[in-house]
Amino acid sequence: MHIETTAPPDLSWQEEALCAQTGGDFFFPEPGSSVRDAKRICALCPIRSTCLEFALSNDERFGVWGGLSEKERLALRRATP
Ligand code: SF4
Repeated sequence: MHIETTAPPDLSWQEEALCAQTGGDFFFPEPGSSVRDAKRICALCPIRSTCLEFALSNDERFGVWGGLSEKERLALRRATP
């Protein structure tokens, strides 16, 4: 018998995600496209810091999370010891 010992991540914070109301297109733009609109929405989002923490701890590589682009999150990860 297999017993699952790892609890699934708590994603209830995503219920307050502003991006859930706007659709994902802004947040996963084509390479080279602007992320300005996504960042503007993130700036108003009540769970921005939780979202960013989640993206950093889960190594989310694509899209805008917590107001930071892929490149900005990568730079932040490299700058953080
Ligand atoms: S911070 Fe941005 S990406 Fe994260 S949940 Fe809010 S709107 Fe979505």
